[in-house]
Amino acid sequence: MAYEYDHNNVFARILRGEIPNRTVAETAHTLAFHDIRPQAPVHVLVIPKGPYVNFDHFAAEASAEEIVDFHRTAASVLAMLDIAPGLGYRAITNTGVHGMQEVPHYHLHILGGKVMGRMIGHD
Ligand code: AMP
Repeated sequence: MAYEYDHNNVFARILRGEIPNRTVAETAHTLAFHDIRPQAPVHVLVIPKGPYVNFDHFAAEASAEEIVDFHRTAASVLAMLDIAPGLGYRAITNTGVHGMQEVPHYHLHILGGKVMGRMIGHD
């Protein structure tokens, strides 16, 4: 499947330094920063620096080095924020229309600091 990446999405602009962010961790391949509209006491986004639109794009096409670096950085952020090991957290990624993804650059939401409630709201 061919993925089309929008180079003007807000996270691409953050990675180019055009928009400020509150960085939590940064490596050669990965950036973690605070969500601008936190939905829990801890709400951090982990993104790859490469141009991947969503989880399936990243999982299918990123290099092994990028994939390992992304997950190791997420683990270090969880340890740094003191939510793993401990009371725990929720890690989620939204994709496409059904996932209600807003920003078309792959990101993992790390949410913690309170009991998160059931995973999926019912409407
Ligand atoms: P999603 O709906 O999964 O695509 O989530 C996108 C997330 O990006 C939302 O939680 C937004 O609050 C967050 N967001 C949007 N713009 C920024 C920004 N400039 N800095 C940090 N987080 C942002």
